[in-house]
Amino acid sequence: MPRPIQALIHTDALTHNLARARDAAPDARVWAVVKANAYGHGIERVFQALRGADGFALLDLDEARRLRELDWRGPILLLEGCFEPRDLELCSRLDLWHVIHREAQIDWLAAHKTQQPHRVFLKLNSGMNRLGLRPQAFRSAWARLNALPQVDEISFVTHFADADGPRGVEPQVQRFLEATADLPGERSLSNSAATLRLAGTDARVRADWVRPGIMVYGSAPDFPENDIAHWGLQPTMTLRSQLIAVQQLQPGETVGYGSTFTTQQPMRIGVVACGYADGYPRHAGTGTPVLVEGVRTRTLGRVSMDMLAVDLSPVPAAQPGAEVTLWGRGPRGAVLPIDEVAQAAGTLGYELMCALALRVPVLTV
Ligand SMILES: *Cc1c(COP(=O)(O)O)cnc(C)c1O
Repeated sequence: MPRPIQALIHTDALTHNLARARDAAPDARVWAVVKANAYGHGIERVFQALRGADGFALLDLDEARRLRELDWRGPILLLEGCFEPRDLELCSRLDLWHVIHREAQIDWLAAHKTQQPHRVFLKLNSGMNRLGLRPQAFRSAWARLNALPQVDEISFVTHFADADGPRGVEPQVQRFLEATADLPGERSLSNSAATLRLAGTDARVRADWVRPGIMVYGSAPDFPENDIAHWGLQPTMTLRSQLIAVQQLQPGETVGYGSTFTTQQPMRIGVVACGYADGYPRHAGTGTPVLVEGVRTRTLGRVSMDMLAVDLSPVPAAQPGAEVTLWGRGPRGAVLPIDEVAQAAGTLGYELMCALALRVPVLTV
């Protein structure tokens, strides 16, 4: 028998969450962001559930090729554009739309021989200082692109640094509006946080296309201010396993490497077949939420490579073989949002879902 650990991908939840993005940004078209192998879910596993999207956005050319192999004929956007000139050949062959975020990418395009002119998304660095042309360089870049026979349509894109928090997006929106004023073309600004928090009421932020990623995968971009229940999102990934041992401890005994947890009273603990080599965060200390038979309890002590310990006080009848939900959907309708586990480990749902280890068998349900 294999180890009892499994990940489940919930296709109904993916479709549901994508619909929430649409509701949040009425009249905008929706890129489903599927970078990082669909945030660790697997592009092939999510594709059917998300094919109602207007397009797919990602950044790895091999992932773009995989989407075309799934027979997706609609738009694909390369969020980082081309990394080297010969990437343009794949863009021509697979009809990939690509971001232009620096001048060299325009030079490459000008030297590229193609029958099929490209659709490009010119990116403004509106303040995040990651990718994009600065406002002063934006118009001349647009003029260069506009003069190229290799280009048939120019759209505009920028990315927010603070859509999930109190700093907000206003200065970046202002810079984007100024830089693109009077230029013809479609516009895209919003990630999940901006889509959920702003796109419904602010047409400038909604624009022509929104780019939701994390919300599609059932994580709240602005947790803990808001959780997935608040946004009407459902977990799309469950990590589940079983108890493989139970220990009855006396007061003053310790649990796990480093003996970081000491019992105060007699205590039953369970040992779960899940550790950091499965992608569970090692930094999740004592008290990280976990479900046993759908009942909420907590982890105890350090996470080891293949195992972790849980407090069985709220589930006194639990025996080896009991179902343990590390995150996602548990039995009897119980839900443990990945965001709560991530918070306990000092990270984000993004990182946990992307870090699901290769050794964990994945079931699409
Ligand atoms: C990853 C990414 C997104 C999606 O961000 P989420 O926070 O996951 O919604 C949107 N746009 C760009 C450019 C990205 O890199």
